[in-house]
Amino acid sequence: MTRLYNFCAGPAALPEPVLETAREDMLDWHGRGLSVMEMSHRSSEFVGIAERAEATLRKLLAIPDEYAVLFLQGGASLQFSAVPLNLMPEGGRADYLNTGQWSKKAIAEGKRFGSVNVAASAEAGNFSSIPARDSWQLSADAAYFHYTPNETIGGVEFHWVPDVDAPLVADMSSTILSRPVDVSRFGVIYAGAQKNIGPAGLTLVIVHRDLLGRSRPLCPVMLDWKTAADNDSMYNTPPTFALYLAGLVFDWLQELGGLTAMAELNRRKADKLYAAIDNSAFYANPVEVASRSQMNVPFTLADASLDKLFLQQSAEAGLLNLAGHRSVGGMRASIYNAVPEAAVDALIAFMQDFEQRNG
Ligand SMILES: *Cc1c(COP(=O)(O)O)cnc(C)c1O
Repeated sequence: MTRLYNFCAGPAALPEPVLETAREDMLDWHGRGLSVMEMSHRSSEFVGIAERAEATLRKLLAIPDEYAVLFLQGGASLQFSAVPLNLMPEGGRADYLNTGQWSKKAIAEGKRFGSVNVAASAEAGNFSSIPARDSWQLSADAAYFHYTPNETIGGVEFHWVPDVDAPLVADMSSTILSRPVDVSRFGVIYAGAQKNIGPAGLTLVIVHRDLLGRSRPLCPVMLDWKTAADNDSMYNTPPTFALYLAGLVFDWLQELGGLTAMAELNRRKADKLYAAIDNSAFYANPVEVASRSQMNVPFTLADASLDKLFLQQSAEAGLLNLAGHRSVGGMRASIYNAVPEAAVDALIAFMQDFEQRNG
């Protein structure tokens, strides 16, 4: 068995110790004679697994009691619809910030349900920076303010939390758990699991309880956060195996020292990769330095005709999934929590070697 270094943007690398525990548990969970996938979600065993996962997540993120933690399905993309259906009244309005491809998708979906005010957009600058706070045009009557703290495709990340009057709604799919965050600043945080939480199929929503019970009459029951909150995320069958695996990831993070330790490690990984890019005329990253993502590092070659060769030879060297998103091309290294520092070191060594042979 060989496990290679995986820089996939999502579904992304999982921590090896977590996969080993899952393998041990696979046929027989804790001597119960069945796997987690085969348990009733109402069994005391599985309810215990789910409660433990939530408790560990609450500890990791220091989530205040006034917030509900929901484990849902449908991905972050379904939350693009759930957010307006839960928070925007009929004929209402919401503010959105446009900082990249995921912002745009959230905005397009929001427009189906009401009036969307794009408070500021970085599109004219090809999404290489975050619009200055004093340029934002906020509405007085916004039901919420939506933004994308880390744009997974463009590699643009907020290293600060916006200060706005409306409830702050954040798509944290590709940044959650990468470092501590002050949850009390937010109305809603949501994230697809397959970047930094666990396997695909699970969606996390952290919502202030004051925001529950405001959904539109037409909101499908399965999209209403209150339904999930009132039923401990078990109104219907939750994605049991994905939730179990996420719980193992939370345990792993806790053992490593929690999010402060992860932040330190992630900063080190990102700093050395950006330094390798910046110190070379062969590679480039287009994002303004203050807004560079610590999780997704896009880069281009000065000679784009070498892209194919780079991807082919990096894969042969055991460095997987370095192609940029199909919408932007180039390269992208996603260096989430589960991507070890040794993977980043191996990537940098390969990049320097490739430059020497082709520069
Ligand atoms: C991956 C991603 C999404 C889409 O997530 P799905 O779970 O596939 O719907 C949305 N937003 C961001 C920021 C992402 O990184």
